[in-house]
Amino acid sequence: MGENFSLALAKAATGDKLSRQQIIDLLGALPGEEENQLFKLADQVRKQHFGDEVHLRGIIEFSNYCRNDCYYCGLRRSNKQIQRYRIPLAEIIKTAQYAAELGYGTIVLQSGEDPHYSGSELAEIIRQVRQAGNFAITACVGERSREDFARMKEAGADRYLLKHETADPNLFTQLRPATTLVERIKKIGWLKELGYQVGSGNIVGLPGQTVATLAEDILLLRDLDVEMAGLGPFVPHHQTPLRDSKPGDLSLTLKTLAVARLVLPQTHLPATTAIGTLHPAGRQMALGCGANVIMPNLSPESYREKYQIYPDKAGSKENPAESHRKITALLTEVGRSISTGRGDSPKEKFKNER
Ligand code: SF4
Repeated sequence: MGENFSLALAKAATGDKLSRQQIIDLLGALPGEEENQLFKLADQVRKQHFGDEVHLRGIIEFSNYCRNDCYYCGLRRSNKQIQRYRIPLAEIIKTAQYAAELGYGTIVLQSGEDPHYSGSELAEIIRQVRQAGNFAITACVGERSREDFARMKEAGADRYLLKHETADPNLFTQLRPATTLVERIKKIGWLKELGYQVGSGNIVGLPGQTVATLAEDILLLRDLDVEMAGLGPFVPHHQTPLRDSKPGDLSLTLKTLAVARLVLPQTHLPATTAIGTLHPAGRQMALGCGANVIMPNLSPESYREKYQIYPDKAGSKENPAESHRKITALLTEVGRSISTGRGDSPKEKFKNER
């Protein structure tokens, strides 16, 4: 193993704060012994803080309308080839009731940034889903006003997902026209002030991104002190301007996840659907290098193929029961158990929510 890599890994093993350069050194782990040692340590840190239980977060993708035009996303407003939908409230509730029967501890209500819904309407969806079972609610509906975030919190949302996507401000604005990283970070700050458990995260392998950018992503997640971080590979979509770009690299995605686990030991890290799309065993690999969460898609079958942030999403041709069965089998295969709790953040400030 290289000297700089070994020194950085030894520092990580002590739990001391890593420098930017040490994060870069770890992200540069070479295939073979270095990668193995990095993944092994990340797996140990995951086990120490979260044990062998995996939290399931059931996602309901209730609208695929979006006002934004992100270059990497199939839901972008310029994509006229997808059929748009909004799931009626009664059907959302029915899906949530089914999730309750399956024992899910968290429901994620996800949509594009859809201005059709007012803050009060989003709050009402949250209120009614909350009554459908004994679970935590995560909202993932994009950038909204502070008042809307507050309304959703009052209605019962416990968590909010707002990925920062990339910590490079120029790349951010290039790939997400008419939006800025500064504004997004400001909104993540509001969510924290309002008492949400906050999830953020970034895409690995965006065109124009470097290993140094990924180090900045991890440092930003540390600065933001997030409770959850989704780190998934870029998967090009044929109906976007990035259709001809290369997909993110599997090994670099796993290394980013592993280093994130070392830097953010108490943060929930999912084995993302995107990594399962990039490689059939991607989620199993992610669970072996730091991940402790899986987010099965519980959206009714007829809507799934229309929610294509990227194409051929793992599980997009299944129904909720099949998705649940496959995820359960996957966890058995890797020797992990399903948590029966809500899976709140282990941080002291959220202890009353556990
Ligand atoms: Fe909309 Fe999100 Fe897709 Fe951007 S990434 S186009 S905000 S759904």
